[in-house]
Amino acid sequence: MENTRDTKLIFDLSRSGCRGAVLPKCDVPESDVASLLPAGALAEAPPALPEVTEPQVIRHFVNLSKQNMSVDTHFYPLGSCTMKYNPKRNERAAAMPGFAEVHPYQPEETAQGMLEMLFEMQEILKEISCMDACSLQPAAGAHGELTALLVAAAYFRDMGEDRKTVLVPDNAHGTNPASAAMAGFESVTVKTDVDGGVCMDDFRAKLDDSIAVFMITNPNTVGIFEPNMREIADAVHERGGLIYLDGANMNAILGITRPGDFGADMQHYNPHKTFSGPHGGGGPGAGPICVVDKLAPYLPGPVVEMDAGVRGPDSAASAHYSLATPQKSIGKVRAFFSNTGVLLRAYCYIRTHGPEGLRAVSENAVLNANYLLARIRHILPVPQGDRCMHEFVASASKLKSDKGISAMDIAKRLLDFGFHAPTVYFPMTVKESIMIEPTETESKDTLDAFVETLFRITEEDAEFLQNAPHTTAISRPNEVAAARNPCLACG
Ligand SMILES: *Cc1c(COP(=O)(O)O)cnc(C)c1O
Repeated sequence: MENTRDTKLIFDLSRSGCRGAVLPKCDVPESDVASLLPAGALAEAPPALPEVTEPQVIRHFVNLSKQNMSVDTHFYPLGSCTMKYNPKRNERAAAMPGFAEVHPYQPEETAQGMLEMLFEMQEILKEISCMDACSLQPAAGAHGELTALLVAAAYFRDMGEDRKTVLVPDNAHGTNPASAAMAGFESVTVKTDVDGGVCMDDFRAKLDDSIAVFMITNPNTVGIFEPNMREIADAVHERGGLIYLDGANMNAILGITRPGDFGADMQHYNPHKTFSGPHGGGGPGAGPICVVDKLAPYLPGPVVEMDAGVRGPDSAASAHYSLATPQKSIGKVRAFFSNTGVLLRAYCYIRTHGPEGLRAVSENAVLNANYLLARIRHILPVPQGDRCMHEFVASASKLKSDKGISAMDIAKRLLDFGFHAPTVYFPMTVKESIMIEPTETESKDTLDAFVETLFRITEEDAEFLQNAPHTTAISRPNEVAAARNPCLACG
């Protein structure tokens, strides 16, 4: 009997002779396969496939899918990941044959609709950034970081400047220093101060003429808009350095402020976060980057250009699009012209909302986060900030020392109540951190239910919590062993 808590593999269900489909008897003369194919093309034995019926296959996979949490099934307040609802109309648009079946080697003439969408996307992202040029090529946010830093390196090389250092605040995402190292820079950490902003004394002490780039996430990972952003950008620019904005938190500022306005020279977007693309489970993302004018010649190619006609309602009749490579391009960072399916979903989302709608997205995301903050701070301390942007970081540190209940225990127990866990233990600048991002798509009822559950959990018995979750098929896997030795058949 299959049930929703079954952890069997489909191979375990196999019974010799079972079939999903039975073909009618062959009504043409049969010949031995060995007489039709060269010997080298034949396998010695048939592949070891499970022998199962169609209902068994369906039940197995539907039940497996029910063990998972998703944005479609559960509240998913995973901080820094912007797990908002994925509108289904975007999926329908991305599945249209004219988009889904375009072949990358198709002549440009026959893919004008796709190129128009990509061109419009470049223009839209430039406008939201307040920057001058865009490349849609990178395949994810982290890839966008690496690409932009390679662009910066090419720019400094061209200027004849030997700048080796990238400054990164200590609460930055781990991909920031990793991207800096991969692009050939040395990353130097800048401390944050007690209220969560960049520590200006430490920043000034570390700023010198060897600085190539200051990578900043704004609003940052504790959900605070950097209070000294202007001063930081001016100081870096005065020394000839560049500001990189990690755009993972754009959901807080769409249409309210633009990175170019607060001094950024380049940024990536995470369309799969900010613009509602489905993500998680290593699925496809995109990491388009925007840069200011002086960096545009170094962008990876191809970029989409409009070489005839005008934009706007009549564009279909007159405009013509083609692919071009910027003059001093660092080269391709990905095959063809990027993860177009993800960009198309983002394009639909942006066009659906329009400028006022996008601003409302951010306002509501910030409102929801502040509502949760105001309620949760009575249960768990929020060390940095009375108010937040689109997310905030609570701490289970006191609960741990008082009762032995850790951030991990709370995260695991939430699963029993049908809530995906928030992000825990990131950023590492807050002890026992629980990073909560509700997004704008959740109702007050859902937020209230989450707060009440959180309160109930903090009142529960510590030992009981340390063994949570109690209702899932697998309770607490050994996460290190699971990553190093992924044996999918072990219960
Ligand atoms: C998600 C995230 C990234 C990396 O983006 P991916 O698209 O997952 O590669 C970088 N920085 C921050 C702050 C993030 O939240």
